[in-house]
Amino acid sequence: SSIPSSKPVIEQHKLVDELIASGFVKESCISRYQYSSYHKNKPYKPSSYLISKLRSYEELHTRCGPQSLSYRKIISKLSRTQHIHDTETTPCKYLVWTPANGLGNRMVSMASAFLYSLLENRVFLVEFESDMDGLFCEPFPNSTWLLPKKFPHKNRWSQLPTFKNRANSGESGLSPSFVHLDIQHGHGDHNIRHFHCNDTLVSLQKIPVLIIISDQYFAPSLFMSSSYKQELNKMFLEKDAVFHQLGHYLFSPSNEAWGLITRFYEAYLAKADEKIGLQIRVFDHQHVPFQNIMSQILSCTQSHNILPSLDNTKKSLEFPWQNTTSKSKAVLVASLYPEYAERLRSMYWTRPTTNGDVIGVYQPSHEEYQKFGDNMHNMKALAEIYLLSLCDVLVTSPQSTFGYVAQSLGGLRPWIMVSLGKNKHSDPPCKQGISMEPCFHTPPQYDCKGKTRITNFTKLYPHINACDDLWWGVKLV
Ligand code: GDP
Repeated sequence: SSIPSSKPVIEQHKLVDELIASGFVKESCISRYQYSSYHKNKPYKPSSYLISKLRSYEELHTRCGPQSLSYRKIISKLSRTQHIHDTETTPCKYLVWTPANGLGNRMVSMASAFLYSLLENRVFLVEFESDMDGLFCEPFPNSTWLLPKKFPHKNRWSQLPTFKNRANSGESGLSPSFVHLDIQHGHGDHNIRHFHCNDTLVSLQKIPVLIIISDQYFAPSLFMSSSYKQELNKMFLEKDAVFHQLGHYLFSPSNEAWGLITRFYEAYLAKADEKIGLQIRVFDHQHVPFQNIMSQILSCTQSHNILPSLDNTKKSLEFPWQNTTSKSKAVLVASLYPEYAERLRSMYWTRPTTNGDVIGVYQPSHEEYQKFGDNMHNMKALAEIYLLSLCDVLVTSPQSTFGYVAQSLGGLRPWIMVSLGKNKHSDPPCKQGISMEPCFHTPPQYDCKGKTRITNFTKLYPHINACDDLWWGVKLV
């Protein structure tokens, strides 16, 4: 390396990735400094504006975060008053992210909520129960993002006033000090579909503490708001790398999770010429025939030269060690179920490939069903998301946030197996995503006045397109 070894470790790594703040103890979070040496495919550099925005956010977090004097003063004052006058300004405002659904859902909604916090100068705090303990490193130096245990109204979020646009302050000129904003998919959907509207954003600005529950990647709705347009343009030169940048900044795996990732990687993936990530998420496992899924996996991977086809002639006299052009490919399978990887492994063991490539198939875990409240289950899920992100090529399942997070962290446009398993023969079996961004499943349907139905997002917002895997969803491109 050209970096002189006498330089302090932290400074060296600042050169590797400027997203990382200085002021961390390296040993407390090895992944932050090692990820880029495992994965060279970080297609875009963060803009200098994003970097400066993060540095000033970190400063805000230190000044107003849980360990500060301001935090104690403000939160204790707010907890005693139910309302705040619209003319009154609070020196620090807060956004508390609360969990819903699986880990992928949580990561996409956290990244969106953090982006919103950046835009609104809110302090971003997360409520992690024991099932998320020790998954991630602290992202902000000299402080914590964890919601303090004694935070007012904790465990009673649903009893807080809910967000009602305009009605909140109305004539009285008062806004509640704490508001619970539910923007989960299927929970009324009014708030999430109107999130980008000016009235919503202005009403929300008056509320000092916002408790958000969401399972959605709602970042695209921030890009639809005229008030953030300029700021977002400066922050993200490439609009298809929003999660890629923010995700790497926020979600460094803890040392324990990084151990799971690197041990598996070194044992099974590191030496292969090519690493292929295969994410098989079957939402209705009992009712989807195994054969449908298997044939879709094979026709997708074989028609796009991701995996070789099998030589069925039984006459092959060529052996891999004789063929100098044959490659070794490692397939990393992430799935709750073991049967797809087992079939692939046995196929490539019992028969030769037409081009002499040798295929290894490896699956870290098969948990059978999605478990809630289980720390190790989430740790494995995180490890598999990161392992997928370290692959050279990704094949993913439609509508899965688990796959979305892997592809965006990995900087990869995945091959998406559209309507996985629905038919015996899917044509096409997969298509390559238009961008690496996650899909937002609950976009607005009408303009903010509620009059005109939105049919073409791209016409209104040049960086937003329909999703590849869900016709009514939208994504940044
Ligand atoms: P989505 O439901 O596919 O959008 O993804 P989520 O991550 O939100 O929820 C699915 C959850 O099921 C994950 O968080 C895991 O807990 C579990 N899960 C699903 N697929 C896998 C997998 O391939 N590997 C592991 N370890 N867990 C999985």
